[in-house]
Amino acid sequence: MADQISGDAEFLADARQWFWRGPIEPGIALIAEPGHVFSWLIAGAERSLLLDTGLGIADIREPVAALGADQPLVVNSHAHFDHVGGNARFDEVAMHESAPDWLQSGTDPELLDAYAGAMPELSAAWRALLELDRECAFLAGPEAVPRPWPQAAIAERGWLIEPPAPTRTLRDGDVLDLGDRRLRVIHTPGHAAEHICLLDERAGILWAQDQVYYGPLLIFERGSSIQAFACSTRRLADELAGAVRTVYTAHCLRYSVPPQFLGEVAAAAEAVAAGEAEMAPAPALFGPGVRAADYGHFSILVPA
Ligand SMILES: [Zn+2]
Ligand SMILES: [Zn+2]
Repeated sequence: MADQISGDAEFLADARQWFWRGPIEPGIALIAEPGHVFSWLIAGAERSLLLDTGLGIADIREPVAALGADQPLVVNSHAHFDHVGGNARFDEVAMHESAPDWLQSGTDPELLDAYAGAMPELSAAWRALLELDRECAFLAGPEAVPRPWPQAAIAERGWLIEPPAPTRTLRDGDVLDLGDRRLRVIHTPGHAAEHICLLDERAGILWAQDQVYYGPLLIFERGSSIQAFACSTRRLADELAGAVRTVYTAHCLRYSVPPQFLGEVAAAAEAVAAGEAEMAPAPALFGPGVRAADYGHFSILVPA
């Protein structure tokens, strides 16, 4: 386990340039890899919790330390590579008990190659979006402005994600006590079999990560199930109705959505699961054999 915060040498990008970090409300900070993924640092009186560790492109311990935490308890919403990239930098890592076996042998390099390979197209799309935004809308905050993709460093040194085995496993209903803040684990399979959300009941906050966000909801990968996704999103919408004031997420332009969105996604997912939604081929970016139900501010992508 590395004790020091690493300089650039071990990583593909300088952490000070790669991340955007900042408080969103008291005790809650966003650590953004703009255009890629949002991780969250959640403070309690006794300890902090880091929800997800990003892509592993730069050392996430740098923003974590800058935000005043040293060795937070890491909780992974699920085991996808864009949420476990920095796990090796931390002593204590918890994830749902159904986390997949391949975790310990590392992320499939083909997956990382495919992601890196899509970057030129994605980066161009983001640039065009942000230019338009600056012309007329000014919606994008600093957490949404992507950094240069470290193509040369990846070509030279490769990009590997090898998370160590989690030190702790979680189950539905577990409570993580941070002192004056308690987070309940809600198992929400569908996007991935091991996906969890965290609920701060007292503050009225749900961290939904890949469960819901404004954007394409990916239910076509290994371990995905549209039936499970419809059930778990319906459960969130029903159980949390009136109990949550905001929902924090992991992807696309906006890091939060209103709680009512849970019900919208649940209804859409139920229609897709029942074969009642209008489906069209998904954007080429997601590969062949994927179909999408498009609802404007979000879409649900499933295998054809
Ligand atoms: Zn995911
Ligand atoms: Zn993700």
